[in-house]
Amino acid sequence: MYKHYYYNTNTDNKGNHEVHTGDCSYLPEIKNRNYIGYKDNCKDAIKEAKEATGKTNFDGCYYCCNPCHKG
Ligand SMILES: [Zn+2]
Repeated sequence: MYKHYYYNTNTDNKGNHEVHTGDCSYLPEIKNRNYIGYKDNCKDAIKEAKEATGKTNFDGCYYCCNPCHKG
């Protein structure tokens, strides 16, 4: 299902940028998030975020991107 994806511009305690859908309760406030795009799934969203930023430290949110949550 297509959703809008965002990543937290701050890193979590494991050094990762958490990726969220636009409807997640844990979506960071506007100043702490960057828009990734309208994507079919979290895997595609993280791939896009990596390509757009050149970084590799992204992790899916436990709640909204559980299939992409590593820990
Ligand atoms: Zn989330």
